[in-house]
Amino acid sequence: MKKILITGAAGFIGSNLTKRLLNEGNYVIGLDNFYTGLRENIEPFLTNQNYKFIQHNVIEPYEIEADEIYNLACPASPPHYQKDPIFTFKTSVFGILNALELAKKTGAKLLQASTSEVYGDAKICPQDEKYFGNVNPNGIRACYDEGKRAAETLICDYKRLYGLDVRIARIFNTYGENMDINDGRVVSNFVTQALCGNNITIYGDGSQTRSFCYVDDLIEGLILLMKSNISQPVNLGNPCEFTICDFAKLVLELTNSNSKCIYLPLPQDDPAKRRPDISFAREHLGYEPKVKIEDGIKKTMEYFRKRIEK
Ligand code: NAD
Ligand code: UDP
Repeated sequence: MKKILITGAAGFIGSNLTKRLLNEGNYVIGLDNFYTGLRENIEPFLTNQNYKFIQHNVIEPYEIEADEIYNLACPASPPHYQKDPIFTFKTSVFGILNALELAKKTGAKLLQASTSEVYGDAKICPQDEKYFGNVNPNGIRACYDEGKRAAETLICDYKRLYGLDVRIARIFNTYGENMDINDGRVVSNFVTQALCGNNITIYGDGSQTRSFCYVDDLIEGLILLMKSNISQPVNLGNPCEFTICDFAKLVLELTNSNSKCIYLPLPQDDPAKRRPDISFAREHLGYEPKVKIEDGIKKTMEYFRKRIEK
């Protein structure tokens, strides 16, 4: 039985990862400060004897013995990470420093939840791992983008200096059950707006693109990466790319909704094109996202329907 520490365990990805790792017979320690995470997300695990929850802010050091660490703690939705940009930056940078120090002390393997945002408003599409990105270091997304880039820098330096056993997952837009209904991301916004009959809020002209990965596929990728010996950054996501307008149409169709689309200003530095090149993960991890967008959105829709009724 492996002892696995997950920071950001009450969040969307953290809670889905917890479920999978517990199902596989591991002992999971979840750590979170509930900044964006939900108590409901960890409730099902609290009675499991192989689960322990610790409320803690990763900006402060912590000492927990584990074989593996998944460092997921960080607000991920633009409205949430922009609300207190200094907290976001500190969470990324001090958060990874504390995780690295712990890994150095205990010998734990460490996987970092990095992001496609390290590519910024990419000038190439699809984005592969060799691309250095196009990030505005002074803009409203920089607290997140630069925080995650700095975290990657620290991970690589700890590996070079101390030989740490590290993994870097560059996660592209992921959706599914346990997303916070109010977190402001496009999937949660559009699905709830459609289910409630509210206007669908398209930012800009909706020609910007994103590629959406169902959470189970992402979790599979994270676990494959942790099991591998690959310490360089690896893109994880689903290359199925949509314009935001086409995505709105798909959500309206799948929810059978009469909501109208309205157009609101495009936020600063909103990336125009995003699609992962996952050739590296395919070749070296045998990673292949399986869930079709229609099926993933239907499952997510059922989850949000229940949350709305609560
Ligand atoms: P989320 O907001 O649902 O979860 C983040 C969790 O981290 C929350 O439970 C929150 O309370 C916790 N947290 C935040 N700051 C903390 C702190 N200082 N101390 C302790 N806990 C803290 O977001 P998510 O979508 O589950 O994202 C998880 C990770 O994956 C993040 O690191 C994010 O950057 C990364 N990621 C997610 C996506 C995506 O599409 N969901 C894409 C790229 C990267
Ligand atoms: N978006 C939108 N309407 C919304 C929320 C988001 O048009 O209600 C757009 C946003 O401008 C971006 C894309 O959808 O182009 C994805 O946004 P999200 O916040 O989910 O994540 P991002 O990939 O930008 O971090």
